[in-house]
Amino acid sequence: MSSKALAAVSKVYAECGITSPFEIPLETIISSRNIIIREEVLEGAEARILMNENSGIITIDNRIYPSTKKRFILAHELGHFELHRNLIRGFNDTDETINHWYQYNLKSEEIEANEFAAEFLMPAELFRNECKGKIFDHRVIEHLSNYFKVSKTAAILKFVKENNGNHPIFVVCCQNNVMKWFKKSDDFYHYSLFSRNLPPPSGSVAFDIFDKGSAYYGEEQTQQIWKSDWFETKDNEKDTIFFEYCLYVKSYNYTLSVIWEK
Ligand SMILES: [Zn+2]
Repeated sequence: MSSKALAAVSKVYAECGITSPFEIPLETIISSRNIIIREEVLEGAEARILMNENSGIITIDNRIYPSTKKRFILAHELGHFELHRNLIRGFNDTDETINHWYQYNLKSEEIEANEFAAEFLMPAELFRNECKGKIFDHRVIEHLSNYFKVSKTAAILKFVKENNGNHPIFVVCCQNNVMKWFKKSDDFYHYSLFSRNLPPPSGSVAFDIFDKGSAYYGEEQTQQIWKSDWFETKDNEKDTIFFEYCLYVKSYNYTLSVIWEK
C-alpha cells in the first residue's frame, strides 16, 4: 500500500469524523467534498471525473451493476480527487483501470486510486480482524464481500495484500482466454508458468472455464489441481496437490484464480 493513498484515506476519515466505512453513506461523503455525482449513459468509460482545486464532477455510467461495483468506482473517483486534483484535471476510467490492479502497464495514478478505494471501503485493521487466522476459501471471500459491500474481486485483491504471512497464495487474472497479470503473496515461492497473452495452462480451472465453458458455483469454485498445472516442477520433483479457486466475471469475461498448496 502506498503511504500516499493510506494517508489520503485517513485524512478523509478524520475530516468526516468517521472510523469505519459504514457510518456515513459514500455518496454523502463525496458530496461533502464538494463533488457532484451525475449518472448517465457513458460510452467508452465506466466513470469519469473532472476537477479543480476545490470541486469536482463525477459522471458514472447509470448501467453499472451491482451496487458493490458502483461503490468501488465512486471510491476510486474520490481517490483521484483527494490525490490528484492538483496534478491532473480529469480521469477516464474503464474496466482496465478499475479491475486490473496489477497489470504491468497501469499508470501510478490508477494504482493509487484503486489502493485508496480498497482502503476506504475495507480499512486494513477492520479487514484483518474479519479474516484473522482464516485460510483462503470461498466462504471467507463471500463473507468479506458481504460485510464490506464490495465485489468478490475487490475482496480477493485486498486479501492477497493484507494476508501476507498467513496463507501463501498466488492470484492470476485471465481475460478473453489469455493470461493478463498475476500477483502473489511475498511468502509464495513457486515459479509460475504465467506468460502474458497466452491461454491459461490446460490443467487449470481457468482453462476449463474459457475452453469448455465450464461453470462453477459455491464450493465447486475450488477445485483440486496439480502443482504442475500452474507451476514449474523440477526434473525429479514429485507432483503435489494444489487448489484453485476460480471466480468468473461474465460481464467482462475475466477469471480470477486464487491458487494455494494443500
Ligand atoms: Zn482512475
